[in-house]
Amino acid sequence: MKKEFSYKCESCGRNFAIKKDLMLCPFCADQDPEGKPLKGVLTVQLPEKLFRSKKNNQEFDVFDYLPVEKKYFSKLNVGNTPLIEPEIIQSELGYKNLYLKFDGTNPTGSFKDRASYLVSAFAKKNNINEIVVASTGNAASSMAGIAAAAGQKAFIFMPQNAPKAKLIQCLQYGATLIPVKGNYDKAFDLSLQFSAKTGFLNRNTAYNPMTIEGKKTVSFELVKQMNKKKINFVFLPVGDGVVLSGVIKGFLDLKYLGLINDIPKIIGVQAERSSFLFNAFYKNKFRLNYKATTIADSISVNVARNAYSAIHHLNTVDGELILVSDREILEAQNYLSNKSGIFCEPSSAASFAGFVKIKEKIFRNAGVIILLTGNGLKDIETASKIVNFPKAIEPNINIILDKLNI
Ligand SMILES: *Cc1c(COP(=O)(O)O)cnc(C)c1O
Repeated sequence: MKKEFSYKCESCGRNFAIKKDLMLCPFCADQDPEGKPLKGVLTVQLPEKLFRSKKNNQEFDVFDYLPVEKKYFSKLNVGNTPLIEPEIIQSELGYKNLYLKFDGTNPTGSFKDRASYLVSAFAKKNNINEIVVASTGNAASSMAGIAAAAGQKAFIFMPQNAPKAKLIQCLQYGATLIPVKGNYDKAFDLSLQFSAKTGFLNRNTAYNPMTIEGKKTVSFELVKQMNKKKINFVFLPVGDGVVLSGVIKGFLDLKYLGLINDIPKIIGVQAERSSFLFNAFYKNKFRLNYKATTIADSISVNVARNAYSAIHHLNTVDGELILVSDREILEAQNYLSNKSGIFCEPSSAASFAGFVKIKEKIFRNAGVIILLTGNGLKDIETASKIVNFPKAIEPNINIILDKLNI
C-alpha cells in the first residue's frame, strides 16, 4: 500500500504515480488501439492512511476517498441521487426490499456526471482548462455541462447521428462540437489524437482512469442510504462496462476500508442487440466487427472499450452478465414510469428488465438495488414507441366524459 493515491495497472499490476498525462499503462497499452478494447486500464489505489482512519458507515464522506481534493470540485450538485422505495412495484412483484437508485436527477440527467465531475476537478487541480471527449451522447452532454459549471472548455467529438436532446444539451452548455463523418470508433481515436496534439485533458470513457473512479461514488452512497440494511443484489446497465467497473471498484474500496463486510452480487444487464461484453465474458469472443443495433442508445456499443477492465472486475467479485431484448426494455421502461413515477432512459430500464427476467432465482426478502442511470426525456423518440397518442377531442365536457366512459 502507498502513502498517496496511486494507479495500478489491471493487466501487469505495476504501480504508477498519478500524473495528468498518464492514461493507460505504458507497458500494456496497445500501440494501435483503434476500434479495440483498451489494454492497460489503470485503477486508482487508496492510500494506506485512509484505511487506518476508517469511520463507520454513518459518517463517511465520499470525497475523502477520491484522489482529488474537495476544493477542486465545482459547487454543482452531482451524485447524492435519491434511493426510491417503489411501494407499488415492491408489492406487485413481492420484493419488499427492492429499491430504485435514480441517477437521472443528476444535473445533466445521467450517471455520467459522476465521472465528468471528477475529471473536471482533476483538470482544475492540474491547471488544465480544456477537456476533450468522444461520445455518442450522455458522456458528451455531461462533460459539457460539468465543464460549464467549472468555467472550463469542452471539446466534443461525436458521430453525426447522436440523439437530438443530447446534442442540444452540448450546444446549450456552450461546448465546441466536432461532428465526425464516421462512427464512434473514429470519433474516439480522433479525440485521442486531438488531446495528444493540444495537451487538453481527455475524458474518454475507460481511457481516463478518473472515469471509473468517479463512478464508484454511487456504491458509497448506496451503502449510506441503505443504512445498515443488507444489499444482496445490484442490477446495472452495461454498454462499454465502465459503470460496471466503477460500481464494483466502489464496493471493493468499501470492503477494503472495512465499511462493508460483503460485496453484493453484481448483475450487469446488456441488450441482446448490444452484447459485445457478454460474448467476450462468457464465450471469450472478442468480435471487433460486431454491430450493435439495440434501441437503448446509451448501451449501444459495437466494441466495449472497457472490456478487459470489466471482465477483470466481474471476475474479482464473481459478478454476472445477462441479456434482455429490446421489447423487454421498452416494457420495463413503461412499467417503471407507470408504477413508480420514474421515467428513465431505455438503457436504464434494461437493469430493471434484467431483474424481472431472473427474479425467480432471487429470494423474496433480498435487498435489491436497481440502478437507473438516465432521464427518460433524453430520448423521447424511443419512449414514444410504446405509448398511444389519443386523438384530439371536441372541446365539450359531455363528449369528453362520454369518450372516457366516466
Ligand atoms: C453510459 C451509460 C450507460 C452504460 O455505461 P457503460 O459504462 O457504457 O457500460 C448506461 N446508462 C446510461 C444512461 C448511460 O449514459
